[in-house]
Amino acid sequence: MITPDVPLAEPERPHSLAGIGAAIEACRRCPIGFNGTHAVMGEGPRDATLVIVGEQPGDVEEREGHPFVGPAGRLLNSHLEDAGIDRARTYVTNAVKHFKFVQRGKRRLHQSPTAKEIDICRWWIEGELELIQPQLVLALGGSAARGMLGKTVTIQKERGRPHPLAGGPEVWVTAHPSYLLRLKDEGRRTEEQRFAADLRKLAARMAELAP
Ligand code: SF4
Repeated sequence: MITPDVPLAEPERPHSLAGIGAAIEACRRCPIGFNGTHAVMGEGPRDATLVIVGEQPGDVEEREGHPFVGPAGRLLNSHLEDAGIDRARTYVTNAVKHFKFVQRGKRRLHQSPTAKEIDICRWWIEGELELIQPQLVLALGGSAARGMLGKTVTIQKERGRPHPLAGGPEVWVTAHPSYLLRLKDEGRRTEEQRFAADLRKLAARMAELAP
């Protein structure tokens, strides 16, 4: 067998969102793709000005095949509505397209993707952004922020202000709604207020950029 002495060229990415959706289902670029789950593609209008990026599909999302339809999605929807951002006009996707989990009895418990897995899957979200060309991206939580910025950041330090990507959209980061759901009482109220404030700033930026 002849072994190539130069790395194989990156295959060409599909030139449509439907094509990317089909390709991620077959993707095995990182170990998560081998766990027998279905990949979940982003959803929303092709001309969305705002792309919202989560970490990865959860248990409900993987079963239903849609992003942000579980409890975290419902919390996100309610905060978007309060901030005056119409979710139907946003494109919602994830930094990692397959659901990483550990089986405990009948339950599939979420496991965070590694930095390397996020970096590998970034190739797909770059494809989505190339096609959609949004003005703004909202990254929810540390994994999404890494997927968009290419480095690990502290959400509390970087939230609520723009991070321009060279030749691309402005990235804004905030907490992931799943994190808010895990908090209780005063901690939950405080973090939800911060989350709401971040979304209001983003909504104001959307209004500034609107033609
Ligand atoms: S998680 Fe991303 S990179 Fe990994 S196999 Fe799935 S689509 Fe491919």
